Amino acid sequence: MHKTIAVLSGDGIGPEVMEQTLRVLDAVAKKYQHNFTYLEAKIGGAAYDTYSEHCPDETLEICKKSDAILFGSVGGPITEQHQPKWAGCEANSILKLRKHFQFNINVRPVLIYPSLAALSPLRAEKISHGIDILIFRELNGDLYFGRHEQRVEKGQRVATDEAIYDESQIASIAHAAFQSAEQRKGKLVSVDKANVLATSKLWREVVNEVGKKYPDVELTHILVDNCAMQLIIHPAQFDVILAPNMFGDILSDLAAALPGSLGLIPSISLNAQGFGLYEPSGGSAPDIAGMNIANPIAQILSATMMLRHSFNLHNEADAIEHAIQQALAAGGRTKDIASSGEVAVSTCGFVDKILDVMR
Ligand code: NAD
Repeated sequence: MHKTIAVLSGDGIGPEVMEQTLRVLDAVAKKYQHNFTYLEAKIGGAAYDTYSEHCPDETLEICKKSDAILFGSVGGPITEQHQPKWAGCEANSILKLRKHFQFNINVRPVLIYPSLAALSPLRAEKISHGIDILIFRELNGDLYFGRHEQRVEKGQRVATDEAIYDESQIASIAHAAFQSAEQRKGKLVSVDKANVLATSKLWREVVNEVGKKYPDVELTHILVDNCAMQLIIHPAQFDVILAPNMFGDILSDLAAALPGSLGLIPSISLNAQGFGLYEPSGGSAPDIAGMNIANPIAQILSATMMLRHSFNLHNEADAIEHAIQQALAAGGRTKDIASSGEVAVSTCGFVDKILDVMR
């Protein structure tokens, strides 16, 4: 198979974890006889240096020519956010891509490897068999896109935020979540607040209608407050979670805390045509950039998600995920996941271990 991948490494640790991820992709391409062409393009502060903007049209053109986008991270140190190079860097980069490609679905896999259970803030017995949850968050509707207003009424300041959903927005992400649930354990939990909100009542109606097309998937509904609680007290019950924009934003960050390091979690943005952008959940980590100590797992898992969702290469993705697990089981730890007394390996040292397993 031949695929073209837009590689947007960005800033901070982005280029170093991306370089290591491409080594893993090269290894899988060689083993399974695929041909991946990487088209590198600038994004974030790295683009600003050349183009005086964070997401230049040249970068969009390269993304348009590609089968998927592999994104690193963007942004500068928190203390330098006022500088033109960094001001608005993350929003300008991500939002332009999101708007241009009409990404309406965000998927965040939350994985806790049994060998890293000690890192989680949860007690060991809750996660002893590992956690593997996929959270589907709608990106284009809800409170974020309605009118936001502050006014004075009868001498008091009053604020309103409008939440809007239309049924096509809900159906689009519901189909994606059901299809994913079909390929996993056949269980889907849909999140809403249908006891109060009109948007949630519509959400539930449409999810039920879409669900009729997927008779092999067991659909349950859960109120958002209960879902937050259940993610902490019994996370192993979940497989695929489907949530509206606002609830999905909060729940996916809550779930991202469960594995214990930002360096472990990837994130996907997809549009209705299935075109995707794959990136780590964390930022550019300027505090450790250039030191060869960043954890490359989130970036590598972003690439495995790309293999699965954009290229349908499941065996290849399985091979990489298995190699990561083996490298961890053999004691490979970057600094962020090493416990005291454990000797940490470098970013590229950890990838050497993954490649050893793959060979
Ligand atoms: P951050 O995620 O970059 O870092 C938070 C902490 O997590 C730091 O201590 C960092 O060292 C650690 N960390 C993150 N990824 C790691 C990895 N792979 N391995 C080991 N440790 C890791 O968040 P921040 O410090 O709040 O933000 C830094 C910059 O990143 C800001 O400019 C922010 O705007 C940007 N940012 C970008 C994105 C994105 O590109 N999508 C997302 C979030 C933040």
